[in-house]
Amino acid sequence: MHQAVSQAVLADVDAFCRELRPVEELCYVEHRYNDQTIPLAKKHNILGIPLPEKYGGRGADAVTYAKCLARLGREGTGLRTFFSGQTSIGQYPILKYGNEDQRQRYLPASTRGECTLAFGLTEPEAGSNPLEMTSTYRRDGDRFLLSGVKYLISNGAIADAVIVFAYPEGKEGPERRMSAFIVDTQGETFEREDMPAKLGMFTANTGMFQMNEHPVRGDNLLGAEGEGFRIAMGVLISGRLSVAAGCLGVIEDCLEESLNWCKERSQHGKPIGKHQLVQAHLAHIEMDRAASALMVENAAQAKQASDENPSDKALLAEADLRVAEAKFFASNAAWDAADRAVQIYGGRGWSELYRVGRHLQDVRVCRIYEGTDEIMQLKIATALLGKDYAAFS
Ligand SMILES: Cc1cc2nc3c(=O)[nH]c(=O)nc-3n(C[C@H](O)[C@H](O)[C@H](O)COP(=O)(O)OP(=O)(O)OC[C@H]3O[C@@H](n4cnc5c(N)ncnc54)[C@H](O)[C@@H]3O)c2cc1C
Repeated sequence: MHQAVSQAVLADVDAFCRELRPVEELCYVEHRYNDQTIPLAKKHNILGIPLPEKYGGRGADAVTYAKCLARLGREGTGLRTFFSGQTSIGQYPILKYGNEDQRQRYLPASTRGECTLAFGLTEPEAGSNPLEMTSTYRRDGDRFLLSGVKYLISNGAIADAVIVFAYPEGKEGPERRMSAFIVDTQGETFEREDMPAKLGMFTANTGMFQMNEHPVRGDNLLGAEGEGFRIAMGVLISGRLSVAAGCLGVIEDCLEESLNWCKERSQHGKPIGKHQLVQAHLAHIEMDRAASALMVENAAQAKQASDENPSDKALLAEADLRVAEAKFFASNAAWDAADRAVQIYGGRGWSELYRVGRHLQDVRVCRIYEGTDEIMQLKIATALLGKDYAAFS
C-alpha cells in the first residue's frame, strides 16, 4: 500500500478517536452504548478500512489496518471491538467468501454506516468447540429457514446483518456439515437482546439472538454449502489479529497514562516515577509493548501474504500460527500492562473514571473471545507437533 494512503487512513482514525473521546468517556461511566460511534466513523470514512475502494473502503493492507486497530484500541477495547465486529469478522467474510452480488448488496452499505454487521458462531452450548452448535437450516423453496440461538455476539443486538453458521436439519454423519449464511436481522422470526450485566465494554454492544424458522434468501448462502467451518476458521484469523492489534493499543495507552501519572503524582517528597519499584512497573509495560508490537506486525505480514495467495495452504497455516501467537501474547501482555498501570495510579486507578481502570476492566475479555488462552496454546502446540497430536481429537 502506498505510504501516503496509509498515513491518510491513520490520520482519519486518529481524528475520529479524538472527536469521539469525550462522548466515549461519558457513555462509559454511564454504562451505555455509544450511539455516536457509527455516525462519526462514517464522517471520518473509516467503516471499511481494509476493503477495496470499489466497495467504499480505504484499501488498507493488513499491516496498516492493524495499526488503525491499535489506535482504536487505545481508546478502549469496547470501541475496537465494534470495529472488529463490523470489519474484521463482518465485512471480511463477505469480501473473502462472498460472490460479487453479495459484496455489492452488503459492503458499500456497511461502509456508509447503513448496515451494521456481526459474526454469529458461538451458542450457549458451543463456545470453544463450535462443532457442538445446534443451530439448523432447511431449504424452503428458493429460501432457507434458520433456527437456533447465538450467544455473546459483538454487535449482535444492533446488527442489520449477521454471518450465521448452522447445520442442515435432519442430516447425520458426513452429510452434517455446517454452512454459513448472511442473515438479515429484520422480522419477528429474529428475536434479540443485549447481554445483561457485562463486566466492561459498556460502550459497545454484545448481544444474543434467537432465530425461529427465520427466512434467509437463497442467494445469501456464503460460500458453498457445507463450507461453513472452513469459513469460520478463516474469519477467526482476521478476528484474532484485530484483538491482538487492539491489545497493543491498550498497552500503548497504559504506558502513556502511566508515564504522565508518574511525573504528576508525588509521594514521600518526590514524583512517584522516582521510586524504583514504580519504575519496575514501567519497564514491564514497555516490554509488553515492544514485544507485542513485533508480534502483531509479524502476524499482520503473515496474514497479508496469505490473503494475497489464497490457494497457498502453507501461507495460511503460517498466518494462523503467527496470529494465534500474537493474540495469546498481546492479550496477556495487555492484561499485565493494565494491571500495572492501575497499580501505578493507586486508588484512583481502581475506578472507571480513569483510562487505566477502564482498560483493566475491558481488556480481560481479550483472553476469552476469538479463541481462549487455552485454545490458542493448543493451536500453537499442535502447529509445532503436527496434526497427529491435535488436542481436540
Ligand atoms: C464480550 C464477548 C464478545 C464475543 N463476541 C463474539 C462474536 O462476535 N461472535 C462469536 O461467535 N462469539 C463471540 N464471543 C464468544 C467467544 O468467542 C467465546 O466466549 C469463547 O470462544 C469461549 O467460549 P465459551 O465462552 O463457551 O467458553 P467454553 O468453551 O465453555 O470454555 C470454558 C473454559 O474451558 C476451556 N476449554 C474449553 N475447551 C478446552 C480444551 N479442549 N482444552 C483446554 N481448555 C478448554 C476454555 O479455554 C475456558 O477456559 C464473544 C464473547 C464475549 C465474552
